[in-house]
Amino acid sequence: KIRVRYAPSPTGHLHIGNARTALFNYLYARHNKGKFIIRIEDTDTKRNIDDGERSQLDNLKWLGLDWDEGPDVGGDFGPYRQSERKDIYVDYINQLLEKGLAYKSYRTEDELEADREAQKARKEMPHYVYEYAGMDDKQIAKVQADAEDNGLEPVVRFRVPEGATYAWTDLVKGDVSFESKTIGGDFVIQKRDGMPTYNFAVVIDDHLMEISHVFRGDDHVANTPKQLMIYEAFGWDAPQFGHMSLIINSETGKKLSKRDESVLQFIEQYRELGYLPEAMLNFIILLGWSPVGEDEIFTRQEFIKMYDEKRLSKSPAAFDGKKLEWVNNQYMKNADEDAVFDLALPQLIEAGLLEKHADPMKMEWTRKLVSLFKREISYAAEILPFAKPFFHGPADINDEARVELVEDDALTVLKEFRARIADVDYLNTVKVLKTIKSIQKDTKIKGRKLWMPIRIAITHEMHGPELPESIELIGYEQSIKNLDEMIN
Ligand code: GLU
Repeated sequence: KIRVRYAPSPTGHLHIGNARTALFNYLYARHNKGKFIIRIEDTDTKRNIDDGERSQLDNLKWLGLDWDEGPDVGGDFGPYRQSERKDIYVDYINQLLEKGLAYKSYRTEDELEADREAQKARKEMPHYVYEYAGMDDKQIAKVQADAEDNGLEPVVRFRVPEGATYAWTDLVKGDVSFESKTIGGDFVIQKRDGMPTYNFAVVIDDHLMEISHVFRGDDHVANTPKQLMIYEAFGWDAPQFGHMSLIINSETGKKLSKRDESVLQFIEQYRELGYLPEAMLNFIILLGWSPVGEDEIFTRQEFIKMYDEKRLSKSPAAFDGKKLEWVNNQYMKNADEDAVFDLALPQLIEAGLLEKHADPMKMEWTRKLVSLFKREISYAAEILPFAKPFFHGPADINDEARVELVEDDALTVLKEFRARIADVDYLNTVKVLKTIKSIQKDTKIKGRKLWMPIRIAITHEMHGPELPESIELIGYEQSIKNLDEMIN
């Protein structure tokens, strides 16, 4: 039975790295007809943020993911929030205490800090020093009773077996092993506030929730031996682990950190800019996974069908901004006009270009405008600089464009165009095209010399979508007005 989970800590919003972890677990579950479970790891109460859980779940849904069990949908293995499972953990911690596989530790933060400083000075790796060294059970009981009398609150530490090796065959990295002496000494499994630590709770939950495979970030590799020790202590089988490579910024070659401002890292930010969710899903899957063959654009269903965890890359995944825009542009170009319009509308309103309740004609006009630029953009907010001249009337003409208008033929073309549209009843794409062709025929001016002055005079830009369509959208009156300004 295949059961996998995505286990976010609500200490932040859904990050691109989180989304990738969620996706690879999701694809594995769906490809193998297993179950995909969401579990909220909220035991680090100080670090949780208010909106963390909502942001995680909302944005996963936005990306098109669905889950079989989780805090919002329930399931047979709940509760799915660790904060609601405290009693379960306490029970298992007591079992270890009774078996002597864990013990209460009263060393204060100050003492631990002093130990670490001393170790640093001796150039040793920081590690916990067993506080009851050389004592028998009676002595230990006495020390602990005194500590209690002094009002000290204990943590519970797991007794790390000496001289043991913890090894597993990682689904991504291959064979991995750790010596127990490299772990840093007996580690905490229950904090002073009674909450379990991540390494403990994750084992209890993965076991009770019958998780078969764990795909998670490379940053968890060093936690895995600790978790294997806990499985061993309870006599449980561990799931199979796969640790996915880091994401690096392709520009700097450095590990993508949340402080790196050159890359948007939160799914919410992409959503706000009007990215298409299917495109983001596609882009994220390509971070550290590759399909067979050259094609890179697939639907979610296609990805599910062809997903193979053996194609997860061992080497770091490069986050490449150009690739991001390319993938998104592929989707934008092919998206249906309504979908793109729906994404663009709030952008235009937000930017103050369009009124919230604009009349139907204006809406229709805007719809045409958006579809005109669909090919040029990767996300909806990119429409703004393109669209602006169409709403306010063109922006000031820049110097480069002005030079074009001084060309000999420029004025001739503008005057001809102005004269030939003077008496028409309306101006649409076909009319504009016909008019320009007729100028070419009569004046023998052609190509750039013919088109560019008209484009600049009417749109005030040197670049843009098809000129006849643009002129139709700018409309008759505005076009005449702009031409007149140039000619006079
Ligand atoms: N809550 C952990 C995290 O956010 C999950 C790690 C795991 O998958 O075991 O990194």
